[in-house]
Amino acid sequence: MSFLKTEQTPILIAGPCSAESRSQIFSIAESLTHSSVSLLRAGVWKPRSRPGNFEGNGEEALGWLSEAKKQYGLPFAVEVAEPKHVSLALAFGADAVWIGARTTVNPFHVQQLADAIKGAKIPVLVKNPVTPDVDLWVGAIERFERAGIAEVLAVHRGFTSYQSGSKYRNPPNWVVPIELKRRRPDKKIICDPSHISGNRVLVAEVSQKAMDMGFDGLMIEVHPDPDAAWSDAAQQITPDTFAALLKGLVIRNASTTDMTASDELEYLRALTDGVDAEIIELLARRMELSERMGKLKKRCNMPVYNPERWAEIVESRSHQAQNQNLSPDFILNLYEKIHHESVRRQLDILESKDNLPKD
Ligand code: PEP
Ligand code: MN
Repeated sequence: MSFLKTEQTPILIAGPCSAESRSQIFSIAESLTHSSVSLLRAGVWKPRSRPGNFEGNGEEALGWLSEAKKQYGLPFAVEVAEPKHVSLALAFGADAVWIGARTTVNPFHVQQLADAIKGAKIPVLVKNPVTPDVDLWVGAIERFERAGIAEVLAVHRGFTSYQSGSKYRNPPNWVVPIELKRRRPDKKIICDPSHISGNRVLVAEVSQKAMDMGFDGLMIEVHPDPDAAWSDAAQQITPDTFAALLKGLVIRNASTTDMTASDELEYLRALTDGVDAEIIELLARRMELSERMGKLKKRCNMPVYNPERWAEIVESRSHQAQNQNLSPDFILNLYEKIHHESVRRQLDILESKDNLPKD
């Protein structure tokens, strides 16, 4: 059985953003000892965006973590960003390491870390890259798998966004971890609501959302005195708030023993399959009509794109959507994709060297 309690949902990882002092680590370890947390997290090398900020207590902090582990029996994990971090973390008995979001973006660094960790028998947690790039994320996971790491887990911590106005520090962009899970259903995904939120008042709702989406665990920043934290102060929560969060969390089950509900779910899934088959058939018919229009446009030497027609489609479909209780934004996104495909097919027709069709 893995110490990560991977059979337990959710897998819980908690601890401060950074290891600041021996007393802080001992205090947090003590408060988490009798909880269902399987791993204490604490950064000892901190990737800071700007120079001049606190960059972690390094080797000294590894000493505090390994002493606290001896005292309280709680396994610990640190972030590694360089091969020498890996050798130090292993030398101090780290039970797991995580790869930070700023490291996952760089395949050279990830490979160096994978080479450094080869042969170690500890889990590696791979945070998503700061950009919403599933390939980079999957690629980093694969590099550790190829290095022989048996337990590689993914951590979703949200994505950098230049858009102001988001309530999140790193908007979650849930489609990205969902796509990761589609490609790698065998991988456990842990959500890091702290770095997504950037604000402690949002941590509980993001944690719940992760449970609602079927995530396997949570990594939450917990600090004995969050306001005084040396890094990420705004998003850290106290051990008491953490306990309350866990108490209020509704854990979802992957399956149910309620046979009536399960039969009804099967039935609704079958109906959904039927509706989806109709949607696909309708889309095929719509593309056929687009191609016929493309042929006519070619014959009359007209351009493919007609701004008035597109404006009319947007207007009328949004209106129809509202009448059907569908969000106009959702329908607009969908129609942008449909229109894009339709334009692409018509451009192919205009640009093809074929003789004009007779019809
Ligand atoms: C962290 O976990 O404290 C951290 C630096 O995370 P990220 O790589 O997600 O920014
Ligand atoms: Mn942090």
